[in-house]
Amino acid sequence: MRRESGEDTVTEKTGGHAVVLGASVAGLLAARVLADHYQRVSVVERDVSPPIGSHRRGVPHGRHLHGLHSRGRRVLEELFEGFTAEMVADGAVTSDVLANTRWQLSGYQLRRAEVGLTGLFSSRPFLEGHIRTRVAALPNVHILEHTDVVSLRAEAGRVTGVRIMPREAGEPGQTLDADLVVDATGRGSRTPLWLEQLGYDRPPVDRLEIGVSYATRTYRLRPGAMGEVSLIVCNATPDNPRSGVMAAVEGHRYILTLVARNGEPAPLDPAAFEEFAAALPFPDIAEAIRDGEPLDSPVPFKFPASVRHRYERLRRLPAGLLVTGDAVCSFNPVYGQGMTVAALEAEVLGRLLSAGGAPQPQRWFAEIAKVVNGPWDGATGADLADPLVPGKRTAKVRLINAYLTRLHAAASTDASLARALIRVLSMTDRPEGLLRPDRMARVLLRRRPASTATTADAPALAGRR
Ligand SMILES: Cc1cc2nc3c(=O)[nH]c(=O)nc-3n(C[C@H](O)[C@H](O)[C@H](O)COP(=O)(O)OP(=O)(O)OC[C@H]3O[C@@H](n4cnc5c(N)ncnc54)[C@H](O)[C@@H]3O)c2cc1C
Repeated sequence: MRRESGEDTVTEKTGGHAVVLGASVAGLLAARVLADHYQRVSVVERDVSPPIGSHRRGVPHGRHLHGLHSRGRRVLEELFEGFTAEMVADGAVTSDVLANTRWQLSGYQLRRAEVGLTGLFSSRPFLEGHIRTRVAALPNVHILEHTDVVSLRAEAGRVTGVRIMPREAGEPGQTLDADLVVDATGRGSRTPLWLEQLGYDRPPVDRLEIGVSYATRTYRLRPGAMGEVSLIVCNATPDNPRSGVMAAVEGHRYILTLVARNGEPAPLDPAAFEEFAAALPFPDIAEAIRDGEPLDSPVPFKFPASVRHRYERLRRLPAGLLVTGDAVCSFNPVYGQGMTVAALEAEVLGRLLSAGGAPQPQRWFAEIAKVVNGPWDGATGADLADPLVPGKRTAKVRLINAYLTRLHAAASTDASLARALIRVLSMTDRPEGLLRPDRMARVLLRRRPASTATTADAPALAGRR
């Protein structure tokens, strides 16, 4: 992959004007890659860019903990040389994703050991702000802020422009001519509607109802409260559907996101928030926030369903239009996959552009389906382990979920299994590697240790089980 573009690479650019819709993580990463291949890249965004680290309206999810898998961090490093060091210099935290973390899965805490993968921990606005600063500095990228994308213009089977409307009262709308349009407007993307209006089919949609609710608070903790770890991931168990994730972020602060499922409301008053934390399967998070100073009130987010638009199944698509990021697939956020998938899609875009100009939409959607398949199957499969999530449980899903519980148990004492699992969870290795015969033997032949999790006893859970 090529490094950040500068004046010296302008002559290599074969495309004219690319327009990206949405300047969040997926849109900015797409713009970064397009800048290597197009004379001009315009990014249209309805928000005004806030200072680095500040929240903005168009990304309400940005208030909640955003883990970046180490694979995603590596792609960012390739796109923006020195990115990790720059984030750390500004206050982000790095650590080994197994040695300096506590992963509590299916009621077992993974054995901690060096795995050699670096996690980069920060708030989401801090990460996005750093990406935006790098992209905005590219000489051929222009971010049009405070501007709504209204519709697409198409002629003779090709998208040729985008209708935009400044949010400033009294400003007239206009059409941007475009050789390529990339929709990165997130989960609320209107491309399915626009396709229909242009005489194409909407893409089929896969949807899994998960009824996830988040509540998030930021803390300053007492010295040593997290021990030597930067991250605690405490996942639900069969007896206790509550999860929580706590991570170090810039400014010597910690973000704690608590997750309720299947319609249970997330705790929004401070006392309920602490009660919920105390009822997690492991006590570590409650212990970490004991005597901590909350810096804000709990903020909510409701995530009813994981949604995947199957663009790759459409037989007819207009040329000149690609879709990326959450606009294609919006995963259960609990698994922290979205930003890394957006980064991998940007990598695919770079590869296809280098191989011969703007990709045909069919080729694009087929290629990114390969990126999305693994994370989608992993996340929806794991969600189906919860008996209250509606959906068909194939024999394969049931078998894999049973195996994963055994694997989590075995990895609580076996460091090499813990490493293999974390390499898959961080999207570095493919999941099939967990089914290698030697690993399966270690998982299945080993006596299963007793779970060290506590079961749920909070009154709110009583009616649910
Ligand atoms: C609660 C929650 C927690 C999450 N946690 C994680 C995590 O831990 N790790 C992880 O990797 N991912 C996580 N994700 C997913 C992650 O946020 C997304 O995958 C990532 O932000 C990429 O999204 P995106 O850029 O495609 O869309 P978005 O982030 O939704 O951005 C869309 C952008 O388009 C703009 N826009 C929308 N419509 C228009 C319009 N008509 N005109 C102009 N601009 C428009 C918006 O203002 C916004 O800037 C989480 C998501 C949620 C909801």
